[in-house]
Amino acid sequence: MKEIEKLKQTILEEYPRLSEDSTFCFKCHPGVSCFNDCCGDVNIFLTPYDILRLRTKLGVTTEEVLSKYTISPFDENLKYPVVMLKMEDNAKKSCPFVSEKGCGVYEDRPWACRMYPLGMASPKDSDKGKEKDFFFLLKEDVCKGFDEKRELNVSEWLEDQGINEYNEMGEYFKEFTLHDFFLKGGNLPPEKIEMFFMACYNLDTFRKFLFGSSFFTKIEVDEETKAKLKEDDVALMKFGLDWLRFAIFGEDTMKINKDVATSKEQELRAKGEIKDKTDE
Ligand code: SF4
Ligand code: SF4
Repeated sequence: MKEIEKLKQTILEEYPRLSEDSTFCFKCHPGVSCFNDCCGDVNIFLTPYDILRLRTKLGVTTEEVLSKYTISPFDENLKYPVVMLKMEDNAKKSCPFVSEKGCGVYEDRPWACRMYPLGMASPKDSDKGKEKDFFFLLKEDVCKGFDEKRELNVSEWLEDQGINEYNEMGEYFKEFTLHDFFLKGGNLPPEKIEMFFMACYNLDTFRKFLFGSSFFTKIEVDEETKAKLKEDDVALMKFGLDWLRFAIFGEDTMKINKDVATSKEQELRAKGEIKDKTDE
């Protein structure tokens, strides 16, 4: 993880920043001599939306995707868990989805695989105010795609790779991960790390939790939204992130049920933890 942090720093400080109009030459196709060479021994971070797409493609649960195909390396420097694709235990450390024909989950391949050779960096707050996200080119020595004669700009590449719907969810996720709470040094306690992991990555389990616990008696959610949460995975993911912002950062993204709030208030008054102005 320290190496990855170092690379991030180098990218922020040294890599040329590209805009959506910046052009580059690149083409990846089965005819390149390096075909599939990049699908092994590689660190691929997975977003919550990547897990959803893989689970739908593979026809399994999010729990199965996470346990069979991912690792979540522990590092005390991390403020929240990260999820990475687990490479096979063979000489090439191959991706579990690669075959001679190429990527076996191509239509639902992760964000990082779609983006390559582009990367996107999110600078943290700086003295100059919030810097904007930027794109950069990652030129791996093994990659012959740069020798191909196809020129395109960043925006054309994003369109070509179907990145935009991934980015829409990515932006929602980043509002959580780049929250001031973390930028100012906040860390999640273990029980909140579990909440984070379930609500972001293990959505089938999160859905079971919502509908199999007293959640909806404590938090106000209208019937239309509840019906949506049963069927719509993207709505569920957004709801999970709103819940985390409510429970972890104390934002007003959810409302406590009035009856629960009143009985909690009565309980605190009885304990003397809340006092009326007239009592002071
Ligand atoms: S998911 Fe597909 S594109 Fe990504 S590393 Fe695996 S085989 Fe390659
Ligand atoms: S190394 Fe580059 S050109 Fe070769 S398969 Fe991977 S992305 Fe395509």
